[in-house]
Amino acid sequence: MGYLSLYRKWRPQSFADIAGQKNVVETLKNAIRLDRIAHAYLFCGPRGTGKTSTAKILAKSLNCSEGPTIDPCGECEVCQKIQNNSSIDVIEIDAASNRGIDEIRELREKVKFFPTEGNYKVYIIDEAHMLTKEAFNALLKTLEEPPEYVIFILATTEPHALLPTILSRCQRFDFSRLSVNDIIDRLNFICEQEDVKLTSEAGVAIARSAEGGMRDAISILDQVISYSGNQVGLDDVAAVLGLVEEAVLFEMVNIIVKQKVDEGIKLVNKVINQGKDILQFVSSLINHFRNLLIQKECEITEGLIELPNEQIKKLEEQAADLTTEELLRLINILVELETELKRSNQPRILLEMGIIKLTKPEIDTSLAGVLDRLTTLEEKIKGKNYLPAKDERQISNEEVKEVTEKIQDIEQINDQSVPDEKLVSKKEERAEDKNVQTDDGDSSAEVNESGLSFAEIKDKWSDILEYIRQKEIRTHAMLTEGRLSAINGNNLIIEFDNNRRFHKENVDRKREVIEGVIRKNLGKKLKVKTVFAENNNYKVKENSKQEEKKRKNEVKDSKESNLDKVKDERIIEDPLVKDVLEIFDGEVLKVKKD
Ligand SMILES: [Zn+2]
Repeated sequence: MGYLSLYRKWRPQSFADIAGQKNVVETLKNAIRLDRIAHAYLFCGPRGTGKTSTAKILAKSLNCSEGPTIDPCGECEVCQKIQNNSSIDVIEIDAASNRGIDEIRELREKVKFFPTEGNYKVYIIDEAHMLTKEAFNALLKTLEEPPEYVIFILATTEPHALLPTILSRCQRFDFSRLSVNDIIDRLNFICEQEDVKLTSEAGVAIARSAEGGMRDAISILDQVISYSGNQVGLDDVAAVLGLVEEAVLFEMVNIIVKQKVDEGIKLVNKVINQGKDILQFVSSLINHFRNLLIQKECEITEGLIELPNEQIKKLEEQAADLTTEELLRLINILVELETELKRSNQPRILLEMGIIKLTKPEIDTSLAGVLDRLTTLEEKIKGKNYLPAKDERQISNEEVKEVTEKIQDIEQINDQSVPDEKLVSKKEERAEDKNVQTDDGDSSAEVNESGLSFAEIKDKWSDILEYIRQKEIRTHAMLTEGRLSAINGNNLIIEFDNNRRFHKENVDRKREVIEGVIRKNLGKKLKVKTVFAENNNYKVKENSKQEEKKRKNEVKDSKESNLDKVKDERIIEDPLVKDVLEIFDGEVLKVKKD
């Protein structure tokens, strides 16, 4: 006998050999035991999960000279013939090869003859979804009234492509993708029989790249053995599959954490020069970041991360170096890169650009990038327990305002690219606002449903803002872009200029936080409602007077500005301001007083 591939040599021969399909196997065994064999079965599932192997074992179980039995002997003539595909009672039809027209026609003619070797005639129709319509119809006629001794087993990767009339006549079994452990067990078994030494890392690498298909896994093992002989290690698997070693992935992440662009580019070039596939490298990196994210966010990672224990420990250490926001941002960049790589013929340049983006967060002007830096800033402030003095506080507000303006700019760029969407949602909002009952009277001094007058709330507003600032600096920055406008029933109305859509939406998103702080400060439950200035029907009349007053104050302020100069310099030296400047790569243009 010539060379037989490992896959064919170690094809499962009994139900016990079928990996990972416990439910399917148990149900079939029970059916045999109880003599409740159906006339048509549908085996669905991804490729290489054991559908045809199971079909053949079922055929053997039924036709074995000792059968029907759940343990076909494998020795008798019938078993032997089924095993080497020469039984005339077990007919395999590959619908993919010629769409099955001739075979189904033949099937219809021959189906009326009794089985000659065993008890049953078993038709195994592989890739059944590929049958032509004519073949389907012919098959359907036979399925409607199958002779007592005929069993059909339809195997398919795409059950949805089968006619409902066929589906309804079959007993369906779903074969699941095999777990990495199921595959490793089988690989280890085969290696033992073949006297091959397979390291655990190599087994994991093969099982992972087979993506749940046993046939692929065994074929890869076969290839690696041809390459390396009887000692199979991770390097051999990596060489055959063009995989990037885990060590390289860990190194790459360390470089990203340390933000070393040049080292990143060097490593990438090393990987490329080793002949690794760029897309494969990026996919592996995405998978590595995904593992870091799972490690960070999930308490129990068992079954979620498929790596040997010592690697998981390293993963744990590395996950501590990155925040969840950073991980999400990095994964986003990589996923985008992966998509671009698939349709580009400049993969190397794209990869290098990607590495620069990954290692230099400060050049990332996407919204996610800016938010990421804002989070870093928040954490720095929290870490320092920064408690500003009264006039310094104004400055930090200013700085945060500058940041939000940056975000606003980005938002506007985004908005411009989807003008229609913006228009529609704006219209909706306007309609929504008009539905709200309006309050015509001056609510400034009136005591409201909430038991609070607008004036009282206004008095406490700066305290409330300060609480919010200490709790969530970002929400504070968004909120200060709006103005306290009125109280209507239990609704506290906050007005935003029409071009402050982004801030308004963010305040809406954080309504619960703001309402919580209000409750703590005023002892009353109020609902925060945001409106655009142009739709604001709640406005307190007094506002216009106040604005005039405010304008006067501003004029006065500018006169005093010379006096502030000395103070300004002190402010620029402030550590918080320095942090802001460093994180956003900015400079102080002016120092304003409110
Ligand atoms: Zn037998």
